Amino acid sequence: MRAILLGPPGAGKGTHAVGISEHYNIPHISTGDLFRENVSQETPLGLEAKSYMDKGELVPDDLVIRLVQDRLTKPDAQEGFLLDGFPRTIPQAEALWNFCEDNDIQLDAVIDLEAPYDLIEKRIVGRRSCPKCGKIYNIYFQPPKEDGICDIDGAELVQRNDDNEETIRTRFNVYKEETEPLIDYYKNKNILETFDSTKPIDEVQEAVYERFS
Ligand code: AMP
Repeated sequence: MRAILLGPPGAGKGTHAVGISEHYNIPHISTGDLFRENVSQETPLGLEAKSYMDKGELVPDDLVIRLVQDRLTKPDAQEGFLLDGFPRTIPQAEALWNFCEDNDIQLDAVIDLEAPYDLIEKRIVGRRSCPKCGKIYNIYFQPPKEDGICDIDGAELVQRNDDNEETIRTRFNVYKEETEPLIDYYKNKNILETFDSTKPIDEVQEAVYERFS
């Protein structure tokens, strides 16, 4: 399975990516996570990406495209992958399409997660994650058993720098302008499947597995 998760920030891409990548036994490749790793390790790429990320803006296409192409040539991505947060612009989608054609790779599915703005806002403001295992919680919808502590490994949960009310509006506007056109792009390629991401997590994932069995 070679798939892309599409949808606005807060639609549940990261949450569903964990279950879906386990189900199909494919690596979950999140460009946001790759950038955050680079930021925390203070690599040159991380230092360059940070200023865009903190403002809720997109990192320039050429940086992201290089990062993803490099990741897709790693051994674990040869039998399949789940891209989360990439592509986010038409030039990124075209670069990925050409990369796949050049390397005889067929994209099987674009999983488009739909959710309205008011729900997205609450999901983002309430989002907390475990810095150790990456599990994502939500203080409103999916709280941990003990306040601020990961159920799995007891680590203290953290909030992303860009998960605040000021940047959410920018990120959502960037999605509308730059990323939403990808829906038509992939519709024209006949690989887009839309799922209602207001539904419970299990229900959304079951619908995905049924569609791509
Ligand atoms: P995410 O975790 O997917 O919400 O990404 C967090 C931030 O990383 C975004 O707001 C962007 O600043 C940056 N980023 C992640 N993926 C991309 C991408 N495909 N293109 C440009 N910027 C990206």
